[in-house]
Amino acid sequence: MVGKLAIHGGEKAVSIETSEKLALRPNWPIVGDEEIEEVVKAMRRVDITAPAGGGVVAEFEEAFAKYVGVKYCITTNSCCSATHIALGAFGVGPGDEVIVSPYTWGQTVAPIIHQNAIPVYADIDPKTYNLDPESVARRITESTKAIVVVHIYGHPADMDPLMEVAEEHDLKVVEDCAQANGAVYHGRRVGSLGHMASFSIGDGKNMVGGEGGMILTDDEELYERAMFVGMHPARSEGVVKKPELRKYIDSLIPTYRIHPLAAAIAKVQLKHLDEWNLWRRRHANRLSRGLKDLPGVDPVFVARGCEHVYHMYSPTYRTEELGGLPRDRFLDALRAEGVSAGAYVRMPIYLRPRHQDRFYYGKGCPWDCPFARRKVVYRKGDCPVAEERCEKTELNIGSTGWYGPQFRDLIDMYLEAFRKVVEHADELR
Ligand SMILES: *Cc1c(COP(=O)(O)O)cnc(C)c1O
Repeated sequence: MVGKLAIHGGEKAVSIETSEKLALRPNWPIVGDEEIEEVVKAMRRVDITAPAGGGVVAEFEEAFAKYVGVKYCITTNSCCSATHIALGAFGVGPGDEVIVSPYTWGQTVAPIIHQNAIPVYADIDPKTYNLDPESVARRITESTKAIVVVHIYGHPADMDPLMEVAEEHDLKVVEDCAQANGAVYHGRRVGSLGHMASFSIGDGKNMVGGEGGMILTDDEELYERAMFVGMHPARSEGVVKKPELRKYIDSLIPTYRIHPLAAAIAKVQLKHLDEWNLWRRRHANRLSRGLKDLPGVDPVFVARGCEHVYHMYSPTYRTEELGGLPRDRFLDALRAEGVSAGAYVRMPIYLRPRHQDRFYYGKGCPWDCPFARRKVVYRKGDCPVAEERCEKTELNIGSTGWYGPQFRDLIDMYLEAFRKVVEHADELR
C-alpha cells in the first residue's frame, strides 16, 4: 500500500512545482530570447501596425500557410473572429442552421450566433470526442448551410466521412483547429481538410502569440470573401480581384486583424511547434502506458492514421471500476496529490443557460428570428454520448506545458498519484 492520500494530510505524490497560472496548463506559455528579439526587430522597423498586412504579418502568414499546406492564410485577433470570418465568407446568415459539436469550448459556437445563425448539435464519437459523422448526417435539414468541426484536445476529427456528408448536401465546413495546431490526419495537417480552418495563438494554445488567430483556405473565392468579414479596406485592395466584389471594398467591416507583435512572437513559436508536439506526444504515450492496466481510468485513445498534439490529455473515468467513486471526488484527491487535473467541458453547450433560456442580445434571435424556418429546441438527451462524457467520464490533464524532456519525471509522479488515488478508492467513497 502506498502512503497516505494528500487529501487526508499525507505527502503529495507530485513534488515538482508547476505554475498554477492556468490550472490545466502548467509551465506554459514559454517565451525565449528569439521571440523577444523578433518583437524588438519588428518594433525597430515600426512594424507595429499593419492594416494592409505586409511586414512581419505577411512573413508569419506565409510560413503558417506553408506549414499547414494551404494557399492562403489571414491572421486575425482570435480564433473566434477567424471562425466568424469563415461563416461570413460561406454566406451563412439569419435562419441558417450550422451543425456543431456540443463538446467544445464556447467560442467554437459563439461565431454561429454572431452571424444570427442557429447552432444545431450533433453527437460525438465516444472514443475521440469529435463529431460523429452519422449523427451529423441525421441533423441536416433544408436550412443547414455549414458544419463547424472542432478537433478537440488536439485529436483530429474524422474528416473523410465528415467531408463526404458535407459534399453530399452541399455544405461548407470550417475546422476549428484552436487546440490542434500541428495535428495530422492521414498524412495531412488539420486545417487543410475542410473548406476553411480557424486557428488560435491565444491564451495557452500549443503555440502562442499572446492573443491572435488565423483563418486558412485553399479557395481563392473564399479568401477574397474573407476580406469582407474583418480586414481593413487597405488590405482588401491588394487581395480582392473579382470586379463584382471590388466595389464592396469599404471600411464597413469588423476589425479582426492581428496585432503585428503577436505575429512576430508566433513566427518564432512556429519553428518550435513540431518539436514541442513531439514531446507532448512522448509524455502522453508514457502516461498512457502507465494508465493502461490501472482500474478506473482508460488512457487517451488515438485513432489510426492520426497524430494527436495533446493540448490536453483527456482520459476516461470508469466509476464502476472503483466501486462507484464519483468522478469529482476522484478529481479532488488527484488534485490534492499535485496533478493539474480537472473536468473541462462539464456541460454540453446546448444544456447551458444561454441556450436553455435563449439568452442573447435581444428579440429572441437567432432562435426566434423571423427567418428561422423551424423551431430548434435543445433538450437533455439530444446528444447522449456528449452528456455522459461531461457528467461522468471526462478527466482532463493539462499537457500543453509538456514541451521538453524535463517533464518525464512529472509524468512518473502523475502516474504515482493516479495509482495512489486508485488504491485508496474505498477510503474516498
Ligand atoms: C481557445 C479556443 C477557441 C478560441 O480561441 P481564441 O483565439 O481565444 O478566440 C476556440 N475554439 C476552441 C476549441 C478553443 O480551445
